[in-house]
Formats: sequence, structure tokens, C-alpha cells
Amino acid sequence: MAKTVSHTVTRPGRKHGQPDVEIPVAEDLSSVPGVPQNPVDVAFYSREYPLETQAIEKSADRQWAVKTYPKDMSEFLDGHDARMKPMYEEGLVSADVKPTGAPVAGEDLTEDIRRLARNLEFGEVGFTKHDRHYTFSGKKRWAKFEHAICLAYEQDYRMTQTGPGPEADRARFETYEVEQAGCLKIAEYIRSRGYRAQVHDGYDCSGPYIPLFVAAGLGQLGANGQLLSPHFGSRARLMLVTTDAPVTYDEPVDYGIHKFCQECQVCVNRCPGRALVRDKVWWRGVEKNKVIYDRCRPVMVTFHGCAVCMIVCPVQRYGMKPVMEHYVETGDVLGKGTDNLERYSIEGKGDFGTGELPQFDREFFEIPHGREEEWLFEKFKEKLSAEGVPSESELVEFASDVKKVLDKGETTFDIA
Ligand code: SF4
Ligand code: SF4
Repeated sequence: MAKTVSHTVTRPGRKHGQPDVEIPVAEDLSSVPGVPQNPVDVAFYSREYPLETQAIEKSADRQWAVKTYPKDMSEFLDGHDARMKPMYEEGLVSADVKPTGAPVAGEDLTEDIRRLARNLEFGEVGFTKHDRHYTFSGKKRWAKFEHAICLAYEQDYRMTQTGPGPEADRARFETYEVEQAGCLKIAEYIRSRGYRAQVHDGYDCSGPYIPLFVAAGLGQLGANGQLLSPHFGSRARLMLVTTDAPVTYDEPVDYGIHKFCQECQVCVNRCPGRALVRDKVWWRGVEKNKVIYDRCRPVMVTFHGCAVCMIVCPVQRYGMKPVMEHYVETGDVLGKGTDNLERYSIEGKGDFGTGELPQFDREFFEIPHGREEEWLFEKFKEKLSAEGVPSESELVEFASDVKKVLDKGETTFDIA
């Protein structure tokens, strides 16, 4: 049944120079620009329960992940790491590099930076406050500057649709290489205009970037836990550059996604790990569908990053405009219930059409949990219960393992 349109969102074309697109939002999908949130709760949780990166908070599964990741990626990943490392290291110290040009009083660099970023083929570019509520505690001292430039680079369409598998996995890593280089160029340009800039990594993130992208109007949070951007949905890799250059902030937008996901639910129904949930919850002051990490992680690591939730998303597959136009015309979700959208194969598990899901036994989900040192204590407690008080040499061995973990520090350049 045809729907009444509440409002129309106008966005720049997919590529630089292409005409604007208009996305109609049905009345029954209209909610709030960005995401429903309670700023008092966001501030409280940020202060009392600060966020920490998965690389530290969930470090126990890192070694397991490195060992488990499909071996057919080894050679490619070695090359990828070698290409990324110098760029990663350049980004790490980028805030300390001095400007090379001189600033001009009263200028605003927003459109110059946006034009450069679009010429570098970033599909979505937006400006917002660098909101420290979303900075990981281990990065609070590292992260500099008050303005955030949000940059989304489109991952290859064809390669992505082949997932889960090595080709889609390569598309992911190749996107990071291109956009890291692009962000370093943007930082260099900002310095040439007399200001400072810091490149925030795509892996070793300084925080969850999605809230900043939503604030900058570049999309809304989907039920798959990813940013659904207008042209390529969640098939985007997100990067951040922060700066002290004078810029003008963009505004959050209501694309209708917050409610559309409750109608769609394709990713929730198709997730092989049953890691996505139907109902939204209030989490750290924001209303969202919360991904269950422990259900996702084993699938993601075992099967080339999985990303079924990205691949089966109609906004990723067809673009937001056709999806929203179809909803306005029919009240239906474009592609939902068809094998064209929902079918996928998983190597070693089979081919799964609409309504079919792979099965995993309980052991499949039994991976190390939490921080590495916590996991060592967990295992030690189990040993105590099962075998009684350990010998002195076992105690020394345990203490030495914990010490090794604590001495490792918090370096997080690691793709797993
Ligand atoms: S990556 Fe795979 S397992 Fe994880 S949430 Fe997405 S579909 Fe589910
Ligand atoms: S598949 Fe549907 S429910 Fe999931 S993120 Fe995409 S639009 Fe939202």
C-alpha cells in the first residue's frame, strides 16, 4: 500500500560531480534526525564506564583469532600489513606534525576539504564536533583537536557480494589501504593551509566512529550495527581526521532508517551466528539494536570476516533511494524474502536460501573471553576447582604468563 511521504532528503551524488539524489522518507518511518539518545546518559556512561577498544577489552580472543583466520588469506595479509604499517605509523604521530602554511583570518576550510576528499573518491564526507564521549579511554590522551572530518570510502560492490569468502575479504582490506593513504593526503593539505590534523586509524580506532558519522548526517545506524549511508549502505569503511582548522558542522539527518530496520529485519533473520537482535534497547544512552559480540566473533573470524549482515542489507545492495522509493510505493522492503537478496554460501557449511541458516554446535562459540589476563585467571580458577591447589612451579608459570600479558602494553595494530 502506498505511503505518505513525510520529508525528502537531498544528498550529493555518489561520485564527485554527479547530480544530487532525493530520498523520500515515508511518514511511518520518520523519527528523529540521527539517533534517539539521552545526552545525560551518554555523558554518564562515558564518564563512569568509559569505552575501551575491542583490541584491549576483548584481547583474550586475539591470539585465537590469528590462529583461526582462514589460511588462504595469509600471503595477502602479509602484503597488506606491510603496506599499511608505514601509513599507520605516520597516522600515529600525525597530530605532532607542524603546519607548513599560514592560516588566513576569518577563513572556513569546510568546502575546500570536502572537495579534496570527494576528489580522492571518498563517497561520504561530513563535519561534526569531535565528541570525546566516544573516545576510547586508552586513546583519550592521544586523540587531539576539536573538529572531526568523517570520511567513508565505498568498498568494491562486486567483490563484496561474493562474500563470505576471500574475494570479499580482500575488498575490505584493500579499501582500508586506499582510504588510509587518502586521509594522510587530507591531513597534509590541512597543514599546508596553516592548521594541524590527526589521522585516526581504521583498525586501531580511537573510538566508535559511527556516532560521529550519524551526527555529521552521513547515514543512520542499522540493525546490523553498521552505518547505513545513502549510496552504499554499510559497504563503506570509515575513517576520521580531526583538526583545529575552522570548519562548519553538518547536521544529523532522519533518513527513516531507525524505523525501517524494524520493518526490514533481513540481517537479523539471516545472520549465521544469530548475533543480531530484533528489538532495540537503550544502551549507554542511545536507542539501538545491539550486536551480541560473542555470537558474531567466532563466525566472523572463521569465515573471512563473514559480513552476511552487510551483504543481505537492501540498502547496501540497491542503495537507499530505490529502497525508500519502493517502500513509499508499496509498503514493502525491496528484495526481502527473495534469494536474490538473502541467499549466501559459506565454505564448508553449504548454500543457504531464504529461511535457511547454517547450524553450529556449542563448542564453536567457546572462544576465549574478555581481556587476556582475565581469561588466564578464569582458566586458573577452573583448574583450582578441578585439581585443587597447584604446585609451586605451576603457580610460578601462571604468574609469569600474567606478567607477559601485562608487559605487552596496548599496541593494537593487528587485523584480527
Ligand atoms: S558478521 Fe556475520 S555473524 Fe557477525 S553479525 Fe554480521 S552476519 Fe552475524
Ligand atoms: S538488512 Fe534491513 S534491518 Fe538490517 S541493517 Fe539493513 S535495512 Fe536494517
